[in-house]
Amino acid sequence: MSERAMIIVGAGETGARAAFGLRERGYQGRVVLIGSESHLPYERPPLSKGLLSDTAEPKYVARADRYESVGIELVLGQSVDSIDRQSKTIHLRDGVFYSYERLLLATGARPRPFPGLDADGKRIFYLRTYADALALQPWMAPDRKIAVVGGGFIGLELAAIARQAGAGVTLIEALPRILMRGVPEVLAMRLQTRHVAEGVDVRCGTGISSIDSRPGGVTVLLADGMQIEADIVVVGIGAIPNTELAAAAGLQIENGIVVDEYLCTSDPDILAAGDCCNFPLSIYGGRRVRLESWRNAQEQGMLAAANMLGEARPVSGAPWFWSDQYDLTLQVAGLLDEATTTVGRHQADGGLILFHLATDGRLVAASGLGTGNSIARDIRLAEMLIAAGAHPDPLSLADPTSKLKSLLRAA
Ligand code: FAD
Repeated sequence: MSERAMIIVGAGETGARAAFGLRERGYQGRVVLIGSESHLPYERPPLSKGLLSDTAEPKYVARADRYESVGIELVLGQSVDSIDRQSKTIHLRDGVFYSYERLLLATGARPRPFPGLDADGKRIFYLRTYADALALQPWMAPDRKIAVVGGGFIGLELAAIARQAGAGVTLIEALPRILMRGVPEVLAMRLQTRHVAEGVDVRCGTGISSIDSRPGGVTVLLADGMQIEADIVVVGIGAIPNTELAAAAGLQIENGIVVDEYLCTSDPDILAAGDCCNFPLSIYGGRRVRLESWRNAQEQGMLAAANMLGEARPVSGAPWFWSDQYDLTLQVAGLLDEATTTVGRHQADGGLILFHLATDGRLVAASGLGTGNSIARDIRLAEMLIAAGAHPDPLSLADPTSKLKSLLRAA
């Protein structure tokens, strides 16, 4: 195809934000957004929350007419098969190709498969796409029995929705507790207690020997000999980045597509952003991370747009994510494993915020669990303290009457 364009591969949160970002920054050339899913770009968080229970529509990042009005060409339901870096072209499966001026890889991630267990749309499910959520919807009902494999965010959110719909849920986690990765034990145990109170049968510290599906149901045999009978199994054991396209093009891969602080790959004309990329975080001394978080996808999409246009703006700020289960919200900002001590702040409404400090007293992470929005403001302020490299007084952090804003002013 003749005219060189800004090409974005992957029409998820990151890709869509990047496409609009290019227009918002005044780019007037061709912008092409290519995605293998047939839907307009949509938000994934509702898939494991409200969408499973009450609506058939995905929550779109933007309606079709917005793409049209700013001249973003959408190529949906098509996978990019290869990149030719020499000729600066990308090739679709059916032989169509596009020439790029700059290319953004926003290919996201896919569910980590349980060995030997493929989704079959009947008894075995994973949850990543709108199609996955639609397939699961009918099972969120009274008298259904669901075995959830994995005590991470997706498994726990799904367990909450299923219980709220009246289904029986057994949640199996091989590690000694739920949310081992990235959530402090005290908050994870509060969440677990709530799940148990809601009737979820939580089984931690036990592996799975086999999962057998048959027309009438599924049997999960645990390593401790326990047998769980269910109508369906939903596997939520993490995600793996979609890096094959980048790898085949000779780009550097290491737990994601390796990029620098400007989201640039080892090829200066190719950037990568969102769930698929591994990038350095300057506030942690350039430590490399790959994040699977909605806000990161949004922010990196917009940053990638700026840098596709040559602005050279570095990644900044701290990682942040949230999870909703029942009426509880969990939020984590920063990197917990950078911390050596933790200070707790008990809110009057029962919420708990933890501040995580490095050996030198620098605030490196904050986490919290509370109802509704109760912890949001403090976590937001903690994020600012983290970004400012603050060394706040632990006694003030622990005191719920002491204002974090004043600590920020002092930072
Ligand atoms: P994706 O959303 O994975 O989009 C990438 C797109 O690229 C996909 O559509 C894929 O099909 C397409 N693609 C891949 N390869 C190609 C190719 N070769 N050619 C064309 N297209 C291709 N985060 C939070 O912070 N809080 C939450 O509560 C939360 N809840 C979540 C619930 C669920 C069920 C899921 C799945 C995720 C959740 N997340 C949450 C994470 C968040 O949604 C992701 O971090 C975000 O969607 C990542 O966006 P992305 O665009 O980088 O990748």
